[in-house]
Amino acid sequence: MKKINALQAIIQAKCPRCRQGNMFICSPYNLAKFTDTYKYCPRCGLKYEREPGFFYGSMYISYAFTVAIVLTFGLGANILGNDPPLWVYLTAITVALLIFSPLSFRYARVLMLHLFGGVAYDPEALDERPVESKNAKVGD
Ligand SMILES: [Zn+2]
Repeated sequence: MKKINALQAIIQAKCPRCRQGNMFICSPYNLAKFTDTYKYCPRCGLKYEREPGFFYGSMYISYAFTVAIVLTFGLGANILGNDPPLWVYLTAITVALLIFSPLSFRYARVLMLHLFGGVAYDPEALDERPVESKNAKVGD
């Protein structure tokens, strides 16, 4: 099995403990299900929601992503459009936010778990989750 470093695990949205199991059930652009997060790591059984309401903290990270997107696309519209009318800014920022929302949501959760979850890398971790919880989602 190929080992990956912490940055690769974050980019690929992998479990912080085993760095092999996925955090999300499907593609970020499956618009009906992009928010679905496994309750437990499918490989090592780590409970992703470290405590009740753990992922509420990821809203602050998501807010930072949103500010970065608004500034980037607002400045981009200003520079490329040579100070265009207001509707150009609003259209550029709205389209960018719609496109990047699924990624913002997911990477906010991934960073929250990796940075604030208090989970150490342990490639030999054993699966200790209850059998009936396999494939359960956060919120189930
Ligand atoms: Zn895992």
